[in-house]
Amino acid sequence: MTVLEIENLSKQYKNKKAVQNIKFTLEAGKCTALLGPNGAGKTTTLNMIAGLLTPTSGTIRSPLLNSKQDLRQLIGFLPQYTSFYGWMSGKEYVMFAGELCGLTKKEAESRTEYLLNLVGLEEGKNRKISQYSGGMKQRLGIAQALIHKPKLILLDEPVSALDPFGRREVLELMRNLKNETTILFSTHILNDAEEVSDNVLFMNDGKIIEKGSLTEVKQRNAENLMFLKFD
Ligand code: ATP
Repeated sequence: MTVLEIENLSKQYKNKKAVQNIKFTLEAGKCTALLGPNGAGKTTTLNMIAGLLTPTSGTIRSPLLNSKQDLRQLIGFLPQYTSFYGWMSGKEYVMFAGELCGLTKKEAESRTEYLLNLVGLEEGKNRKISQYSGGMKQRLGIAQALIHKPKLILLDEPVSALDPFGRREVLELMRNLKNETTILFSTHILNDAEEVSDNVLFMNDGKIIEKGSLTEVKQRNAENLMFLKFD
């Protein structure tokens, strides 16, 4: 089942063609890596899908959307640089997101308990976020992105800034989310894509130059991928 269809999507910032005519679909329950070097156009692509940036041209559609819904209702988003409210507890933070989405306090509380358990923060839920490790913060961000039961979550460089332990925790969580939602995440590190993704969209200079399973992409484009390997 298709969750998202992107057709000829482009974004131009003044003189810079950041995203150029990209086209892809995302299938339910799959984890797709948007892989590419710095400046490839990954964040711009995710921000357009999340509804934070207006495309210069092209379409973003979902066959799952009914006429009364906005695409944003189907999508959860964890930006690259998230400022968490450090003085809140993890539980308060996710509940706050739930109430912003229109859940009643009771609904927000039960969804929050479920999600904090899912992301492995059951124990730390009443601690202040300022005391969380980088990996815990990213897992909290994923819980918050899932609050409204989105069909798709977008994670912008979810593990790039983490130490090896945090990185492992978050990648493992992403592997375990396949029954919950569909994932599109960006990374400039080949190993991240290798460890968790079913499919890869390899982006360079605003274009998607390869797509498919990582094995297929590697066979066709090993040279270009090599320089992402040791990043
Ligand atoms: P990174 O991993 O470094 O964030 P990226 O693949 O996410 O890279 P983008 O942030 O989408 O890439 O940027 C794509 C290109 O567009 C880059 O050349 C960047 O300098 C440029 N760019 C991004 N945002 C703007 C902006 N607001 N105004 C002008 N140019 C921009």
